[in-house]
Amino acid sequence: MVLAENSALLAVYPPPPVTFVEGDGVWLVDETGRRYLDFAAGIAVVGLGHRHPAPLAAAHAQLDTLWHASNLFGTEPAAALAARLSDRFGGARAFFCNSGAEANEAALKYARKTIGKPGVIALEGGFHGRTIGALGVTGQPAKRESFEPLLDGVRFARPNDIASLAAVAGDDVGLILLEPVLGEGGVIPLEREFVAVAARLADQLGALLCLDEVQAGVGRTGTFFAWEQLGVKPQLVTLAKGLANGLPIGCLLVAEDTAGGFAPGDHGSTFGGNPVTCAAACAVVDAVDEALLAAVRENGARLLAGLARLPGVVQARGAGLLVGAELETQAQPVVDAALAAGLVCLTSDTNVLRLAPPLVVVREHIDRALAILEEVME
Ligand code: PLP
Repeated sequence: MVLAENSALLAVYPPPPVTFVEGDGVWLVDETGRRYLDFAAGIAVVGLGHRHPAPLAAAHAQLDTLWHASNLFGTEPAAALAARLSDRFGGARAFFCNSGAEANEAALKYARKTIGKPGVIALEGGFHGRTIGALGVTGQPAKRESFEPLLDGVRFARPNDIASLAAVAGDDVGLILLEPVLGEGGVIPLEREFVAVAARLADQLGALLCLDEVQAGVGRTGTFFAWEQLGVKPQLVTLAKGLANGLPIGCLLVAEDTAGGFAPGDHGSTFGGNPVTCAAACAVVDAVDEALLAAVRENGARLLAGLARLPGVVQARGAGLLVGAELETQAQPVVDAALAAGLVCLTSDTNVLRLAPPLVVVREHIDRALAILEEVME
């Protein structure tokens, strides 16, 4: 057992290198008053930047009105958010919960109830959360091993390897679960052809296709949903991180023509659909408009091109403002050095530097982040 010194927190995270006390747009401020350029956004969460006025005002107004009533009753913000997401999706029903793992749990239960087959195909390196069910479909042995046995009937194909998909297919499969960009597994964008084959396979097996857009959704890849760029419309989508700009939320979206699977009593969440969170999320969805999405695509391309030119980068890849640089060396020392130089960034897998800044970054922020990285990677 490793216990962090001077802390009453359970030691599930490494000791924090910095304590942040304030956020302001694309900047974080530590307890000494030092400012850091934030290219992590709370792990792809704070898409509109810290304390963006629109969700801030919406949450404040809702705090002054009604905090919680439970799902035994209707509340306006949850209904309004579901309607907005349905519009964006092109017809869908929403279940609200509090995290990405919970959204994926809902997807697993939805597939079991609707299709009646427990088998799941997921991806090696994929990440879907830390609860027993979500971990059971997470293709990262190091995160799973201490907690086995997990779910039965789950098998893992290799990302972008069509033959490996066919190899794990079986009649017991009720769900194919894919991350459009493997955010924790090395920032690997799925290829259109691979996703098209997965969708056809789901059809043939009578299974549902779910895209886990917990990290890639809500504009991060340059379209509201990442699937819009993949040429395939899934039956299920899970969202979380960016949806309420930092307030806790998760969501399972089910395409309207598949949406009859759950009946009252099948699933639920005390805090899911919380009015304050949903009010903030409505403001987020409204802010992720075509102008912002175009900027995400343009700035993402600039960031990607800049990363590819940095010393020690084997490959730069990603979509929109979810980008990674595979390094010749481990990524953590680069992340540590960047932090010391005033830039917050992330790892993904062991040798991939991951950048997921607020979607509102501008060219100057990108150039500054690249300059810091160039300095620390030389
Ligand atoms: N799915 C994906 C693709 C994620 O990136 C994550 C978190 O990183 C999760 C699910 C789990 O989300 P949460 O930590 O909110 O449970």
